[in-house]
Amino acid sequence: MPELRCGVVTCKHNKQNYCNLDEIEVVGSSAQISEQTSCGSFEERKGEQYTNSVKEASERSDVRCQAVECEYNESRKCYAGRINVMGSDANRVEETECATFKKGK
Ligand code: SF4
Repeated sequence: MPELRCGVVTCKHNKQNYCNLDEIEVVGSSAQISEQTSCGSFEERKGEQYTNSVKEASERSDVRCQAVECEYNESRKCYAGRINVMGSDANRVEETECATFKKGK
């Protein structure tokens, strides 16, 4: 389970650059570069609402990942020690990316 750092501060799951979901899904099954991946779990924050104001973000989340050509992908799960999701002013899934993607297969 990677440490998940996330710079997508426009997502309602983001709390101080961590994610409050126990599991996320990275999409982009034919990705060759990081810009072709996205965080499929992104949901735009409306106002200052959080999905669950009680739940804190933990440092680690399970990451299901469709980017099968990434070096860290094994059977559609991520085995990197730490990943960085980027897209600081995103308002759509496609404007986010897994910056840790590394073509390795
Ligand atoms: S590092 Fe690779 S395997 Fe892990 S989430 Fe990012 S693209 Fe997927």
